[in-house]
Amino acid sequence: MAETTEVTMDKIVSLCRRRGFVFPSSEIYGGLGSTYDFGHYGVLLRDNIRQLWLRAMVRERDDIVALDSAIILNPKVWEASGHVGGFTDPLVDCRTCKLRFREDQLADAQCGRKPSKHPGETPDCDLTEARQFNLMFETHVGALEDASSAAYLRPETAQGIFINFKNVLQLARRKPPFGIAQIGKAFRNEITPGNFVFRVREFELMEMEYFVPPNEAAKWHSYWIEARMAWYLKYGLRESMLRVREHGEDERSHYSTATSDIEYLYPIGWSELEGIANRGAYDLTQHTEHSGTKLEYVGEGGERYTPWVIEPAVSIERIFVALLVDAYDEEVVAERQRTVLRLHPAMAPVKAAVLPLIARDENMVGHARKLYEELRGEWLVEYDDGGQIGRRYRRQDEIGTPFAFTIDEQTLADSTVTVRDRDSLAQERLPISGVPAWLGDALRRDWRSPKGG
Ligand code: ATP
Repeated sequence: MAETTEVTMDKIVSLCRRRGFVFPSSEIYGGLGSTYDFGHYGVLLRDNIRQLWLRAMVRERDDIVALDSAIILNPKVWEASGHVGGFTDPLVDCRTCKLRFREDQLADAQCGRKPSKHPGETPDCDLTEARQFNLMFETHVGALEDASSAAYLRPETAQGIFINFKNVLQLARRKPPFGIAQIGKAFRNEITPGNFVFRVREFELMEMEYFVPPNEAAKWHSYWIEARMAWYLKYGLRESMLRVREHGEDERSHYSTATSDIEYLYPIGWSELEGIANRGAYDLTQHTEHSGTKLEYVGEGGERYTPWVIEPAVSIERIFVALLVDAYDEEVVAERQRTVLRLHPAMAPVKAAVLPLIARDENMVGHARKLYEELRGEWLVEYDDGGQIGRRYRRQDEIGTPFAFTIDEQTLADSTVTVRDRDSLAQERLPISGVPAWLGDALRRDWRSPKGG
């Protein structure tokens, strides 16, 4: 393998744009800072992330059930959870350049006048005292826009889970340890969004609240850190790009007893991919006090306790960026440069392409369409007869399609096709009738990044 490609955020953004994964939002109106729309392949990749998370959390386990709660909840939920009072970031303004910064991120920010310096480092910088800025988006429910109608867009999905604790406990007949998993949009009025979709104001969270007997919390916290790390490795992220970092006491959220982040080495440096928090009994206790409804577990023998909560939480956006950064590669093959996304086949938006070598040849097209119709019943596959075969391969490489089946003259003679492997570029011939079984096997095989460890 050639030496490793330097992967910058610019390269990722440009590939995403070129191939229709992600578009800057509201572009025809001049855009809206750090807001993005997802195109066809972006939607498919996001859906794979979502489905593979659900598979690991719900489908392959007996102890976790799914939930889909509302985005706008009774505002009392956010008072009880501590978000109205405490879900804030410290904000400083610079009176000189008029930019706004997170006080805890000054060391990573650029001065508005001298980008080589950090805010506060030049004699012209004139920073205000920090003030607390609440990250929740406020809205109003109903026709009246007064204090009584104020509500919030949820900044996390977890609270929707806690307020349904009793419903699930009774109706799903679970006892600790058990979990409730939820995927859905969350909104945070971030002071400094940026780095593509790494930090946005509207994102899709995947959270699982795992309720455990208090004396087992530490054990389950370690368990979930390991389980989540194993998930990333299974879906192809390189081990050398991942690490676990324990939060210091000063950086923990208001609810947390202990938090560890799984960090990924993004082009911006090591940054939080997923947080795994031990929330203790904080949330259930708060909601019990504020609502008057007892959120506790009562065992058959009459023992009762408030379970502690372990929470793995990650956004689809952070996984999306990590997968693309990990997969992006450039290499020169036969004197031509190619860009390729070496995505795990399970994550790849399109599993296989079906390509008739000569689009004008009706026989080839007939065979190709037939194969395509057969495969699409089971997998996301693409048929493409537009342009030279080399260009079609490069297009599939850039969207990360692991396999391409080509129908050529020999197909007409002996009913075989060529299969081309995205990573090794190896080609082999198979009987056309054996393609579905071959593809099924190939997609089930373990996959490791050819970019190395
Ligand atoms: P940060 O310190 O980066 O602002 P946080 O510690 O506030 O993040 P959590 O509250 O732990 O983040 O959020 C859980 C997960 O949600 C994060 O691990 C990350 O995957 C994701 N996430 C949080 N904020 C954003 C955002 N603005 N854009 C995209 N994903 C986000």
